Amino acid sequence: MIPFSNTYSKLPARFYERVNPTPAPNPTLIEVNDELALELGIDPAWLRSEEGLAVLSGQQITDGSEPLAQAYSGHQFGGFSPQLGDGRACLLGEVLDESKQHKDIQLKGSGRTPFSRNGDGKSALGPVIREYLMSEAMYALGVPTTRALAAVRSGENLIREKPIAGGIFTRVASSHLRIGTFQYFAARKDTEGLTTLTEYALQRHFQSKDNSKNSAVTLLENVISVQASLVAQWMGLGFIHGVMNTDNCSISGETIDYGPCAFMDNFHPGCVFSAIDRDARYAWGNQAPIAHWNLTRLAEALLPIIDPDETLATEIAEKSLDTFSKQFIAHYNGLYKAKFALRAETPAEFIQESLSVLADQQVDYTLFFRKLTQLASQEIEPSELTDLYLDAEAAKHWLSQWKLHIDADKIPAMREINPVLIPRNHQIEAAIQGAYQGDYSLFQRLHKAWKTPFTENPSDQDLETPPLENERVTQTFCGT
Ligand code: AMP
Ligand code: MG
Repeated sequence: MIPFSNTYSKLPARFYERVNPTPAPNPTLIEVNDELALELGIDPAWLRSEEGLAVLSGQQITDGSEPLAQAYSGHQFGGFSPQLGDGRACLLGEVLDESKQHKDIQLKGSGRTPFSRNGDGKSALGPVIREYLMSEAMYALGVPTTRALAAVRSGENLIREKPIAGGIFTRVASSHLRIGTFQYFAARKDTEGLTTLTEYALQRHFQSKDNSKNSAVTLLENVISVQASLVAQWMGLGFIHGVMNTDNCSISGETIDYGPCAFMDNFHPGCVFSAIDRDARYAWGNQAPIAHWNLTRLAEALLPIIDPDETLATEIAEKSLDTFSKQFIAHYNGLYKAKFALRAETPAEFIQESLSVLADQQVDYTLFFRKLTQLASQEIEPSELTDLYLDAEAAKHWLSQWKLHIDADKIPAMREINPVLIPRNHQIEAAIQGAYQGDYSLFQRLHKAWKTPFTENPSDQDLETPPLENERVTQTFCGT
């Protein structure tokens, strides 16, 4: 059983549509996240049982579950869609975790809902494998994220360009409230709904709120802070979300919606993987300005409840939004100073110049910081690092500059911020291909290895290597 303790279903009826998941015809269990289940007060053995599988595959509505599809809107690639909503997801309910926080348990790919438009509400197996691996790796890397509770093969073929095996992913999130959820009520001029949603979001995510302030401003300020920190963390790891639409931007500050996301191999600020991001709107280096753009949409949605005087409300919102850049830059510089073990007084320009050399020299981002960490502790010869550059002279020149800026005290901590392993695209792609063939061994191996991404493990050394030219994945796709 699952000890449900639902709150979203108690909100007014216009916040969602009640809908049951569509039962998968012939489900098989791929994986259950035992550790996460325990944190949520769910018996992993039960989840792995026949009854557990029936729940994870939409065949059975277990006691206390109140399945629903949430309503939301969103700006997608800059254009506003007033009506999106859970088109291929179903919230089964919430449970209280170890620290008494509500966590959503949601099936993704469990069939049509009133928000499905022309879609079938299903998910192919590939995106299920991808989200499982990516979100759990992100968690292990220390980045706020939704989590993976289970992956199921549905036993049916979906109609896509060619028939393809379907899957159902069980996602756990601090909530599924998005900027787009606020936009949904704002677009309908539903001020009462906005107020209810704001109080709900504060209660769920930012409980230590300052009661002296307007709730909408408190919420906005908190979301600005968590997003500024989140995007800096993504960038430090070379992560590109790929589809930072406002409906994929979580109020809690968790990474959500692992569709066309990717970790880059060679460093380049303009790096984009998503096949549908033709204008590079969501490139690695654009993520902070885009987060600010998204937060501005949140502020706009909240205006009517910030102050009835629109001019005054705008002024207040702008003051909050103006803090984003400063917060982001502080996180970003702090993070890179730790990655490079730089002195506190090293100017930020040195970081930008260093990254610019990495881009010119087509250096593998993760391997660079890994080798730099080893070099700083004198475990390797400088050539192991300089070999990563196209031009060894450029590398040597940079190293001589870097030495002037090192803070020796920061060297040991480089290991805690520069991972040995990241989920590389070609590895995920290979795990997906295996899964379609019914072979989950690589999925299992990667999942296990990526649980300890900062630890050197001789048996996983091969996973450190960047892709060969013929293995390189240059495009990723939305998870439909
Ligand atoms: P995404 O950008 O992947 O978060 O999805 C954007 C919107 O499209 C959301 O409202 C989804 O629910 C909806 N959507 C995506 N795939 C499907 C599908 N296969 N069937 C129905 N709706 C979908
Ligand atoms: Mg989405």
